[in-house]
Amino acid sequence: MRLGNRKSGGYEFDAKKQVGTAGFKGRHILYMDKCTGCSLCAIACENIADCIDMVKVDKNFPQNKKSIFPQIDYGRCVFCGFCVDACPFDCLFMTPFYELSTTDKRLLVYTPEMLNIYPETKGEFVNFIPDEKSGAHHG
Ligand code: SF4
Ligand code: SF4
Repeated sequence: MRLGNRKSGGYEFDAKKQVGTAGFKGRHILYMDKCTGCSLCAIACENIADCIDMVKVDKNFPQNKKSIFPQIDYGRCVFCGFCVDACPFDCLFMTPFYELSTTDKRLLVYTPEMLNIYPETKGEFVNFIPDEKSGAHHG
């Protein structure tokens, strides 16, 4: 499902209809041009993983007077999707992208600008090929 010109390819929640659309719960996509900085996503996360910080960015957006946006620490995120449900402005969704592993946990902190860029998979699921000898691997 797409909400207007927004795309996620993963789990979405329609704030007006109050209906969620089943989908893969991978890395988020944040549409900064719609985010008001209301912090409801961060508040929703507080008692789950407390991994959203509202941070200030240099760029100005008319709908976000304080220029504050969510930043997510994927070292703590449990991919529950509650932050997506909490967003009243349909600007935070999830994507099918899940390959986030790194040897440096600092790289797991995704700034608003990073979340604003759609992941490299472009919404396509990765094919896993089962292999009796080496286990599952990418197609
Ligand atoms: S998906 Fe991650 S960031 Fe969102 S509420 Fe759940 S733990 Fe927090
Ligand atoms: S992503 Fe949504 S809930 Fe979070 S600050 Fe922006 S508008 Fe508010």
